[in-house]
Amino acid sequence: MKRRSQLQRPDQYLAPLLLRSVYWNSADVTRLEIATELAMDAKDDLADLQRKLSAIEIAKVEIEARLHIANHALKRLGCFVSIRGNDLQCPRCWITNEVIANLRPANDSDSAQHNFRCEICKSDFNLQI
Ligand SMILES: [Zn+2]
Repeated sequence: MKRRSQLQRPDQYLAPLLLRSVYWNSADVTRLEIATELAMDAKDDLADLQRKLSAIEIAKVEIEARLHIANHALKRLGCFVSIRGNDLQCPRCWITNEVIANLRPANDSDSAQHNFRCEICKSDFNLQI
């Protein structure tokens, strides 16, 4: 791993600090150089850490949504109505979102009479009716 001083000169950050005092000795300067490098390394991590945190927050939201589905799936199953009037109902929309959605015959198949597509989630189902 390269040290910052090998990558770029930290002088632009170090010089103003050194100018604050005329009482710096070489040990002070060394500690200040190390502190400057550490501060710059931490600053360099900022974008990467923000990107990682954002990904974790997105994953958290997705997991919470799946947990919500899991917690309500059996209750929704008990209320699922497979046909409303003459319309077959989408089980996926009901179980995942508690949304009533009609299935329509899919026209893009040789066995179209058994293939149905949800109007909302666009899921395909092969149903023997
Ligand atoms: Zn659906």
